[in-house]
Amino acid sequence: MPEGRIIKALSGYYYAAPVDEQGALLPNEPVTQCRARGIFKKRGVSPLVGDRVMYSHTENGEGMIDELHPRSTELIRPPVANTTLAVLVFSLREPDLNLPLMDKFLVHIEHAGLDTIICLTKRDLLEQQVQNDTALDAVRELYEQIGYRVLVTSSVTGEGTQELKAMLAGEISVFSGQSGVGKSSMLNALVPGLALETSAISNKLGRGRHTTRHVELIPLDHGGLVADTPGFSQLDFLELGVEELSVCFREFSERSADCKFRACTHIHEPDCKVRDAVESGEIARSRYSSYVQFMEEMKEKKRRY
Ligand code: GDP
Ligand code: ZN
Repeated sequence: MPEGRIIKALSGYYYAAPVDEQGALLPNEPVTQCRARGIFKKRGVSPLVGDRVMYSHTENGEGMIDELHPRSTELIRPPVANTTLAVLVFSLREPDLNLPLMDKFLVHIEHAGLDTIICLTKRDLLEQQVQNDTALDAVRELYEQIGYRVLVTSSVTGEGTQELKAMLAGEISVFSGQSGVGKSSMLNALVPGLALETSAISNKLGRGRHTTRHVELIPLDHGGLVADTPGFSQLDFLELGVEELSVCFREFSERSADCKFRACTHIHEPDCKVRDAVESGEIARSRYSSYVQFMEEMKEKKRRY
């Protein structure tokens, strides 16, 4: 029975691509259009794009998904299993960098258990403005110090696209970030022939941006799969507990073990190591402000629901 990965789901069919023991797609091997066994429905589970499966070939030239392997992660939007990496896309210009929003995306990505690459796009729009470069260096340094990889790119000049491609090898990744930052343009630059619609094109055609699509995993030529639909569009904190928030700030969770109170919220408690680190400059003020702001938002939401 072949082992495969579901790379697309559409109208009750699952498209299984054969994989090797590591779960990497076997190049040039045909994809099989499969139905799922009735047993899955009975158990209340349905196969997801990204799932590792065992499948068999049936007489009509189609296939049957017989077994689902356990998932390491499970995203709701887009519905993809076993995602390992989020490429968090923010533009340097048009729209300008928005650090509180970046922190908000990071919280959700941490909560989903994914690794992150911060991809700063539209570098070409900064050219000749030396002052902006110091600002860019500061942002890069801030997030690298926390432990994130930061890549500066431009889909126009091609800067950084090869590096990004190399970083996606062996991963199942999903792009994330607000509308208009250049996610589709970057995906098009990474995958020859993909031709996702960018906002420049959809404006010209006068169409809405959010036509219903089905998520598909696109194989990259260095190995690795990337979802063709961006993720984390819903950034409310409903699924997150107040206690979990500080864990999603990597540089806080390192220090919070030494706070005087075990359930320290790092807002008003005495002898708080997180606030000490903010005072001494080891934790960036912008990050702490984001934290305080999100805490308020969460409390506000919980009052209303
Ligand atoms: P998405 O909504 O995040 O998928 O963003 P799009 O890829 O649709 O891009 C939004 C707009 O930014 C489009 O008009 C693109 O042509 C433009 N854009 C994307 N990447 C770049 C870039 O690297 N440099 C410049 N100057 N414009 C870009
Ligand atoms: Zn504390």
